[in-house]
Order: sequence, then structure tokens, then C-alpha cells
Amino acid sequence: MPHDQTSIASGARRPQTEAVRGGLERSAFGETSEGLFLTSGYVYPSPEAAEAAFKGEVKRYQYSRYANPTVAMFEERLRLIEGAEACYATATGMAAVFAVIMCQVKAGDRVVASRALFGSCDYIIAELLPRYGIESVLVDGTDMDAWERALSRPTACVFIETPSNPTLEIIDIAAVAELTHAAGACFIVDNVFATPLLQRPLELGADVVMYSTTKHIDGQGRTLGGAILGSQRFVDDHLRMFLRHTGPSLSPFNAWVLVKALETLELRVERHCRNALALARFLEGCEGVTRVLYPDLDSHPQAALARRQMRGGSSIIAFEVEGGKARAFRFLNALGLVDIANNLGDAKSLITHPATTTHQRLSAEQRAELGIGDGLVRISVGLEDVEDVKEDLAQALLA
Ligand SMILES: *Cc1c(COP(=O)(O)O)cnc(C)c1O
Repeated sequence: MPHDQTSIASGARRPQTEAVRGGLERSAFGETSEGLFLTSGYVYPSPEAAEAAFKGEVKRYQYSRYANPTVAMFEERLRLIEGAEACYATATGMAAVFAVIMCQVKAGDRVVASRALFGSCDYIIAELLPRYGIESVLVDGTDMDAWERALSRPTACVFIETPSNPTLEIIDIAAVAELTHAAGACFIVDNVFATPLLQRPLELGADVVMYSTTKHIDGQGRTLGGAILGSQRFVDDHLRMFLRHTGPSLSPFNAWVLVKALETLELRVERHCRNALALARFLEGCEGVTRVLYPDLDSHPQAALARRQMRGGSSIIAFEVEGGKARAFRFLNALGLVDIANNLGDAKSLITHPATTTHQRLSAEQRAELGIGDGLVRISVGLEDVEDVKEDLAQALLA
């Protein structure tokens, strides 16, 4: 029952070894690969055994909404990679965001978040929370004075995403952690863009890290999933009961895909970074491209901070094409290899026009404030030979 397992007996192994072997629990059949336990429930040998389980005297699997062996293998493997005390998987990344906030707030509380958020996170924080009497405050994540002002009052939790979507702003995790703790708040970092390999928020002072495993962790565009990692205390005080009784459980099938995907995460993320950096440098020299944003480029407005807290730039590049929406659409229509899709972190290179897709819900002024112009496109660089991706973008820019 890895949810409650804080033993670090196997933690002495290096992260890539844990990525391949961590959390593996073989059944009586001795299978090499992780077993897929597609079962909603579990049987008891006697009524006495069932009674003991329900009383909490014996730890065992009772119902897959609470725990499932395949899901537990995924949770334990990710926990070991992240170096957290506890991990819970969820059905989607948004289920993780919703649970991580709602499990700990009540009417009258205050939540502070960075302004440049994934659209659905913005909906939860800016629209949903106030309906339940929870004040939400959005700040420019790169402005430390704004953080200081916002966190000068008692706050329940702080939520940030760094690098942000789609403009790849970087927030100083260690600095915001200090202000968050001074305000008595729980500090949550959405680490989706960076992956557990490129950024270690818990080591920089975050209390909770969450993922949409739909992105790089699956990495091949197959499953939806999410994960929440934090201290045993956070799980005991807030998260376990909320998840058990609201039920955003990850399916065992998706957990099986994801536990296998962790085995190759490092290989894939390294190649994503290498391809993306090469493409970002190439785009900087392309005519018709007015701005390129990538955390590992010297020209990134926060390059020094990005290099201090990240070990690579990850797979996403945002860039501005000259000529607004019409030119951006002409460019997208001319692509032959790169797919138009709003997902990211996939083996396939995917491109999107945020102003008319992921961020179309926002007003024009809100988009302008976030730097999402009509000529901005976001590419998630995949695992193809990057020379083919360069050639595709170059020919489409000429269209
Ligand atoms: C995709 C994403 C989410 C939501 O994850 P889903 O799995 O799509 O529910 C949350 N935060 C960020 C930064 C994302 O990119």
C-alpha cells in the first residue's frame, strides 16, 4: 500500500533505476513487467478479515477508488523519482489541480496564484473559488513586489505554474516559497512543463507538486492522468479523505501505461530538450519570426533564473510570427509534418495558436496582459529528427 509507505529503503538507488524498477510489486506469477490489475474490488477470505480491514486494523486493498495495485506501482515509482513522502494519482491533471486546492480551503480563505495560468486552472481559481466564498488573487508571477504585497496577508494556499503556458514565464520558486510560508500558506507548484527531471520544486521549498501526466509522463499522447506529490502530513490532514470520497481515481489501465512510460521518461525528456533548443536557435534566425521564447535561450528575459532552477528548457517554444492571426493561420495551414493540436509533451511535434484555442476564453485585454498576441504560436517539439521539423517550419514560414 505505497500511499502510506514513507520508507526510503529503496530510495538509496539512483533516480533512473527507480524509474525502471521503483514500486514494482510482482504477483504470485512472477511476471517480468508490471501487472495490470483491472479490478474494481477485492475479496476477503472471511468476514473477520473484512471487519478488520474496515476498522483499519489491517492494511489491504479494499476498493479501487481507494487504492489499486497497478495505480500504486505508478504512484510509488513517481514518488521515488520526485523524492516526495507521498504520491496520489488522479484521473486527469485538472482533477489533481482541483483536489489539491479544494481539499484544504474553506469559505473565508484566500488563495493567491500567478496570473499566467493554464486556462482550466484559471477557471477554477478565478471563477469557481469565489462562488464558494474563497477570495482569489492573481499576481504577475515575475513581479516579486506583487508577490510581497499579495502575501502580506494571511493566505491558505499559493498556486503557480512555471514555466507558464504559453509564454514560458519563469517564477522564482525559492523566493515565492519563502513569502508563501511567511503568510502561513501551502505552496503548490504545477510542474507540468518542466517534468520531474528538469525542475525539483520540493527541494526549492514547495509543499506540493502536481502533474498532468497526460503530457511528458505519458509522452505518447495515449492517456489522461494526473498526480499530486507532497508530505505525509499533507496527505493525512487534507488529501486522502478528499480523494477517497470524491473519487477522481486514475484507471488501472492508464496507470499501467504511465508506469511503463516512466521507464523511458529521462531518455525522452533529454531528446525533447535537445530538439527544442536546436529548433529555438533555428527560429531566432528565421525571417518573419519576431520573437522566440524558450527558457534555455540566452535571449529569454529570465534566462539566469531559468538556468538556476531548471536543468533544461523542456519541449515547448513560443514564437511570434509577423502579420498577426492571418499570417499565423497561413503558416499553420502550410505545415506538412507538424500537427495542429493543443496537447503537448508528445513524441509528435504539435503546434497551436493560443489566442484562438487554449486562451480564447480570455478577453482581448487579458490576452494582451499575458503577452498572448494574435501572431503567437506555441510548438511542443517532439522526438522526430529535428532537421525535418526545421525544414517543415521553414517552408511554412515562406507560405
Ligand atoms: C495540461 C495541463 C493541465 C491539465 O491537465 P489534464 O491532464 O489535461 O487535465 C494542468 N496544468 C498544465 C500546466 C497543463 O499543461
